[in-house]
Amino acid sequence: MLSALEKYDPQIYELLNQEKARQSGSIRLIASENYVSKAVLQATGSCMTNKYAEGYPGKRYYEGQQVTDLIETITCQRAKKIFNADHANVQSYSGSVANIAAYSALIEPGDTIMGLSLTYGGHLTHGWKASFTSKVYNSVQYEVDPDTGRFDFNKIEELAKKHRPKMIVSGATAYCREIDFAKFGEIAKSVGAYHLSDIAHISGLVIAGIHQSPVPHSDIVSTTTHKTLRGPRGGMLLCKKEHAKALDVAVFPGLQGGPHMHTMTAIAVALAEADTDEFINYAKQIVINAKRLAEKLMEHGFDLVSGGTDNHLMLIDLRSKNIPGKIYAKALGRAGIVTNYNTIPNDPAPPFNPSGLRIGTPAITTRGMKEEQMDQIAAVFKRVAENIQNEAVLEEIRKEMLLLCSHFPVPDHFIIPPKKNVI
Ligand SMILES: *Cc1c(COP(=O)(O)O)cnc(C)c1O
Repeated sequence: MLSALEKYDPQIYELLNQEKARQSGSIRLIASENYVSKAVLQATGSCMTNKYAEGYPGKRYYEGQQVTDLIETITCQRAKKIFNADHANVQSYSGSVANIAAYSALIEPGDTIMGLSLTYGGHLTHGWKASFTSKVYNSVQYEVDPDTGRFDFNKIEELAKKHRPKMIVSGATAYCREIDFAKFGEIAKSVGAYHLSDIAHISGLVIAGIHQSPVPHSDIVSTTTHKTLRGPRGGMLLCKKEHAKALDVAVFPGLQGGPHMHTMTAIAVALAEADTDEFINYAKQIVINAKRLAEKLMEHGFDLVSGGTDNHLMLIDLRSKNIPGKIYAKALGRAGIVTNYNTIPNDPAPPFNPSGLRIGTPAITTRGMKEEQMDQIAAVFKRVAENIQNEAVLEEIRKEMLLLCSHFPVPDHFIIPPKKNVI
């Protein structure tokens, strides 16, 4: 597939090869990243990238929609089935745009929204001050309890009663415990707010039944399609029947032009893959690996926010190690382990140089790594922390990680066996 690219643009071809080597030769622990299957990659790189399809199946603004209409209908059917939802919109360009569409479907500019603060694990689009969402809406932010690292529902309820938001957003980017969507839904109902739940990170775990589903407890559910769901980069929205029309109009023509049909096609493929026992086992292993990694890290003297994890990610509180998050992340990077520095709840340090590190297991689990490899990686975290400026040791570890990677090759060619009666 790349030979045309190699001929036409050797410079970009070479850079792609470098990125491929980087993805294959490093331990990727960024909690929001993954590796997609060959089938998803093929759909993403398909002729569907050539097609304009503004509108919805049967109601398009361009001709030539014989195939696009079928693909969008199938993608929606698969999404509704797998999440048990009344309605699905599969056109969002990304998780961020999906959230903005959800707001604009149900509330007006100037209305109050209430979401988790970015520095406590929320997403930009949950009303963070740098985000467009806090400029258009009046944003009230809740936090997690810094002592427990968990939501304090009494405080969240108090805040909701005080500010009477029109929309309460649940869901997070860096929260390592199960989210009680039913409780968020209850609080929203009690103050007459809509409930938007954002499962960008955990949608794969929800599909596998490992995490509570927000669908029965929410007006709208948003997700990305490229994190634990293991599809192409994109977004998706689910909602109750009564919001279907408003949500579709909010996405198009409210916010977007033509949908990215190549992405949508790949989302259809990813949803078929996710509807298999292989995927359920994969999702289970993600959590088994995360719990094991968390346990071993704590044995090695690391503090974890909330003392562990229920899902695919954890937050290391580095204050007891006296290592700033950024310096640790960079040292790990030199040792072949890719992570991101992150704020911890009530972080005394500023967000661009925070006290924490976020790590997750979705990508390494796709490579087939299991408990034994988690033990090895945890031990490496300790060695790097003790050798933060010892380049010789970091280089030695990098070689060790390269060897580990070679035993778990990037599943560039992994294929999920299709189910017999896939829609
Ligand atoms: C990743 C993420 C998003 C945004 O997704 P993009 O596709 O990067 O726009 C939204 N919400 C949450 C909770 C996320 O973790």
